[in-house]
Parts: sequence; structure tokens; C-alpha cells
Amino acid sequence: MSSNARATVHLLPNHAKRLRQGHPWVYSNELRIDARAKALPAGDIVRIVDAGGQPLGCATFNAHSLIAGRLLSRDADAAIDAGFIGARIEAALALRERLFETPFYRLVHAEADGLPGLIIDRYDDVFVCQPNTAGMTRLFPDLLAALEARFSPRAVVLRGDSPARTREGLELESRVAAGALDGPVELVEDGVRFLADVAEGQKSGWYFDQRDSRAFIARLATGRSLLDVYSHSGGFALAAAARGAARVTAVDRSQAALDLGARAAELNGLAAQCRFVRAEAFGEMERLGEAGERFDLVVVDPPSFVKSRKDIKPGLRGYRKMARLAARLVTPGGVLFAASCSYNAAADAFAEAVRRGLNDARREGAILRAAGAAPDHPQHAALPETAYLKSLTLRLD
Ligand code: SAH
Repeated sequence: MSSNARATVHLLPNHAKRLRQGHPWVYSNELRIDARAKALPAGDIVRIVDAGGQPLGCATFNAHSLIAGRLLSRDADAAIDAGFIGARIEAALALRERLFETPFYRLVHAEADGLPGLIIDRYDDVFVCQPNTAGMTRLFPDLLAALEARFSPRAVVLRGDSPARTREGLELESRVAAGALDGPVELVEDGVRFLADVAEGQKSGWYFDQRDSRAFIARLATGRSLLDVYSHSGGFALAAAARGAARVTAVDRSQAALDLGARAAELNGLAAQCRFVRAEAFGEMERLGEAGERFDLVVVDPPSFVKSRKDIKPGLRGYRKMARLAARLVTPGGVLFAASCSYNAAADAFAEAVRRGLNDARREGAILRAAGAAPDHPQHAALPETAYLKSLTLRLD
């Protein structure tokens, strides 16, 4: 879109400071939303100016979202097209290529990679895109062109099934947008082969964010037994088995995810050490505890227990119970890894829930490592609250 067709949206008086100091969002109550602004199609690109008309940048705009403007550039008249998106992808790619030896990673992590509202996971020549805002949905054809020009992908998958889209007033839709897929996609992490269902699996098919934690836990697991609860396709379990764990058990409620884990165990020649169990996590941990089963390492990496701010209290009670049930299964001197991917649960609140859970189980622990997501999930420096993933690795008495 040419920038002279661009509408101008004014901030209210005294609301430009945060943006000038580097913040990338404009909230809807900071704008003078007149009839013209209200009528702009959701996802349109606008010039953002302060109350006096000084330009602050250009942004994707959605009058119906709490985060009404997301800055794309500090240049209000910057051309926003396939070339612009391609340049942002190139910068994101350069960082990933320094971080990783194989082309399997989160290529674009939204605001922190200069493409607000957009996530792209890369599985070599397959790209899985999550446009989570109206703006990025409108720019999707330009994104496709940019990916095509740079990578000639085998397939580009649009995964538009995140709840964030509902808040933007968008439809939920997923499809192969370019090229073709024939079944699950293979990926390699730390020398281990995994399978991901990028078309229908959870999220983009793989949880790249726990990569460093899988490597850390795997190193501790050599010669030991490991229980991987909320295993999805056995990320922790197979990483540990590949590092010489004596036996690993993966527990998940999703048969489809477990089946991919079992196939990956075969691919790596690790099937003899691996068990895949379909069960509800809390019930299975209770049952194993009653049965007197113990493991040298226990991993609990659940889905978010705090989906919105009003769930903070019950969510934290859930993490406390999870820590109690898991701690009971850890051998004396063994290791517990507990994670939360809840945006709305702060790191200190999660750590307190885990501490209480240990106490409920009458166990004491020392924190070996506190971690967030791997560095292909950078956070915009002005948005520290978007660091959703927290984990603690503890050695228990
Ligand atoms: N640890 C995994 C990612 C886990 S994602 C990895 O490293 O790749 C969370 C998983 O929890 C999902 O696979 C989901 O199917 C599973 N899950 C959600 N609720 C569950 C429950 N009540 N019991 C067991 N598994 C559950």
C-alpha cells in the first residue's frame, strides 16, 4: 500500500511519551478515535501522530482491539510491503543462524523481531505462520511473497487457531497456504530426530521454546530414569533417552502427540528405553505415587493453568498441586523440572507455588536453574511482561 493513502490517527494529549521512549504499542484509550478512525478496516496501516501532529511512526491498526496500534516502523511513511517484511525476516534469520546449526527454530517472534503479532516457526523448508492480529492477517499475502522470494518453501502453513485472534475479531482458520504437505514434518534438535504435525498438531506442531531446558535435563539424565509428564511428542523423554537415560516414560492426554513420539523413538533407535502412556497428568501422578513408583528425574511441563488474569489464584493452586504430586515421585537426591507457560503467572508467583508444593510433599529443594524460553523467542525490551515461559530445575533432598 502506498503511504500517501495512509490514514492518520492522533494520540490524545500527553500520551506520546511511552511511544517516544521505545514502547511499540498504542492502547485504544490513548487515541482520538473519531468516526473516520472507527471506520478504518481492522488491520489497516496508519500513521500515528501525537496530539500536535508530530509523526511517531506507522502501525497496524485495529480500533476494536485493546492494543489498537502496533508499531511497524518509526518512519510514519515507510513502505510496508513484501520488501519490508523480507528485510525483517532477513534480520531474524541472521540471528537464528548464529544461534543454531540446523534450520529448525522459531524464525520470527513477533514484536521482538520487528513484526508485531506474527510468529513463524521454521522446519527447514516448511514454514508455519501464526498471524495473531488483524494487521498481520492483512499482510499475509506480502508475507507469503517474502517467504517465497527468500526460501522457495516446500510448504507454508497458516495456523490461525490461536485465541489471540478472537480478541482481534478474527476468524479461526488453518490451511496450507502454499506448496503441499504429506504428513508430519521431521525436525532435528540436538542431534535427535522428532516428528511434528504442523497442520493439525498443537501450536505449530512443536514447542521450540523448551529446547535449552530439554538439553539441560537430558545431560542430567544419563544412566537415570525419567518421567516426562505433559510430554507432548516426548521432547524431554527422547532427548534424555538419546543421552543415555536408562528408561523414560512419557505421559500425555493426546494420543496423536504420543504416537508421533513413539514413531520418533523408532527413528532414533530408542524404542526399547521409551514408554508412551496416554493418561490425565494429575490422575497418573497420583496413581504412580500410590504404587510407590519413583524416578530419578521428573519433568512437568503443562499447558497454561492461567488463561486470563481472573484465573491467577486457581492457576497458582494448580501449579502447587502439580509440584506436590511430581515431587513425591522423585527419588532422594533426584531432580524436578517444573514449568509454566502462563503469561499471567509471574515468575516469583510460580516459584512460590512450586515451593509450597514441595513443602506439601515434605520435600526440600535447591534451585539448580531458573530459565525462560530459548533465545529464538526474544522479548521486546519494552514488553518484559510478554515473557510467558518460566521453569525451575530443582534438586530434591
Ligand atoms: N513438554 C513438551 C510440551 C508440552 S505442551 C515438549 O517438550 O515438547 C503440554 C502438553 O500437555 C500437550 O501435549 C497436551 O496434550 C498435554 N496436556 C494438556 N492437558 C493435559 C492433562 N490434563 N493431562 C495430560 N496431558 C495434558
